[in-house]
This record gives sequence, C-alpha cells and structure tokens, in this order.
Amino acid sequence: MAALAQALDELVTANHILAREGVVDAFGHVSIRHPEFADRFILARARAPECIEVEDLMEFTLDGAPIEPAGRKPYAERFIHAGVYQARPDVRSVVHNHSPSVIPFGITGTPLRPVMHMCASMGAEVPLWDSRTSFGDTNLLVTNLAMAGDLASALGGGAVALMRGHGCVVAGRSLREVVFNSVYLELNANLQWKAHTLGTINYLSDGEVEAILSTRASFTYERAWEYWCGRAGRAYDPQPMSGPLVERD
Ligand code: MN
Repeated sequence: MAALAQALDELVTANHILAREGVVDAFGHVSIRHPEFADRFILARARAPECIEVEDLMEFTLDGAPIEPAGRKPYAERFIHAGVYQARPDVRSVVHNHSPSVIPFGITGTPLRPVMHMCASMGAEVPLWDSRTSFGDTNLLVTNLAMAGDLASALGGGAVALMRGHGCVVAGRSLREVVFNSVYLELNANLQWKAHTLGTINYLSDGEVEAILSTRASFTYERAWEYWCGRAGRAYDPQPMSGPLVERD
C-alpha cells in the first residue's frame, strides 16, 4: 500500500480504537501530520470517531483551513491540532478527547501523575490549561488559533495538557504513540482516583519516569496496536520495529 494510503487507513483504525477503548465517544478526534507535506495535517470531518471511514478524512493547512472540503463539515475544534502542529515540529500526531476519568483532575487542580509504569508517558508533571485565564467566559471550545496557540503554549514540549472543564490534548511522534498514551492516560487517571481513596499514593519518581521513557521501544506500541486492532475489528498492519530492544512485561 502506498505510504499515504496506509497512513489514512491507520488513521481510520486509530479512530475506531479510541472509540472501542472508551477514550472518545461521539466527540473527540485524532489527527496525523501529512506524511509528505509537513505543513498539512489530516483529520476527519465532524463525525463520531467510531463511524469514520477513509472518505471522511480531510487535509488542512496548519491554520486549520480545509484544503478540499468537498462539502464536508470539519470539526469546530480542528484548531487544537493546527496549534500543536504549528508549535511543535516534532509532533506527528495529536489526539483531543474528553476522556472521562481525566476530567476530575482538570477541574480540581489535583495534579495527574504517573502511578504505574505503563502510564509514564504523560511525564512527571502534566500541565493544566484553563481557557478562562486568557479568554474569559467562553463555551470552552477551542475554535480559533488564538486559543489553540495558548493551549499549545501550556503543552510546551510535553506529551499531555489537561483542559479545565473540557478534556485534554495528547501529542506525540507517531499515531501509535498518541493512541497508546491516550488509552493509558485514562487508565492512570482512573487508578490514581481510586488509589487516592485508599491512602497516600506512592507515585513513580521522576527518575523512574525518565528510565521508563528512555527504554521504551516501538514494540511496546506495536504489541498494544495489534491487540487494539483486534478489539476494534480492524486489520493489523505491522510497522518496522525501532528503538532499544528492552523487553517489557
Ligand atoms: Mn473538545
């Protein structure tokens, strides 16, 4: 399969996986930077992720303008993706979601921190973006580049930023990575919330987070991707492995 066709097919798969794993419902979205043109990204038209097929995928400029809309209505919040791709040349894929267990952290200000090794990707500290700080009372949707740029500033060079009263944004170097991190962010939030009711949490240390991330290899994402493809009823297409060969339980 040609590179672009394969990338589009995998983006459809990512939409179905995120829906199947409960990270998105009728809302939320995932994009990739265009594999051939770094100044474009690919995102579906405004449709529930589980329903998305390849003909729903649209190309956008990094300003969030659709290149060939062909009558298709884009997501109002496509600017989240535009803002992150503009600010972060290293980012190849972005997820925006309203992952349910993550929301309480955004509205209480209780820091979301890694509680188990599979969830270290969020980093030792997860920034919280509050749209009200710079934009006052809005409907909380990120519908322009000014808001998206502010959100991207909060994200900084990290993998995740929480959005107060809304959800989060997850950015990374590959589609498999952001899907993996989105699924495990939801799991971590759920575990941290439960653990908090039992007692004082002994979080991963900064050094442990660093050690995990420095040894994480692509087969970690690959193993998860194959498993999630099966659960989502999508064909699994293996990608070449890279990174250090460190086995993970
Ligand atoms: Mn949203």
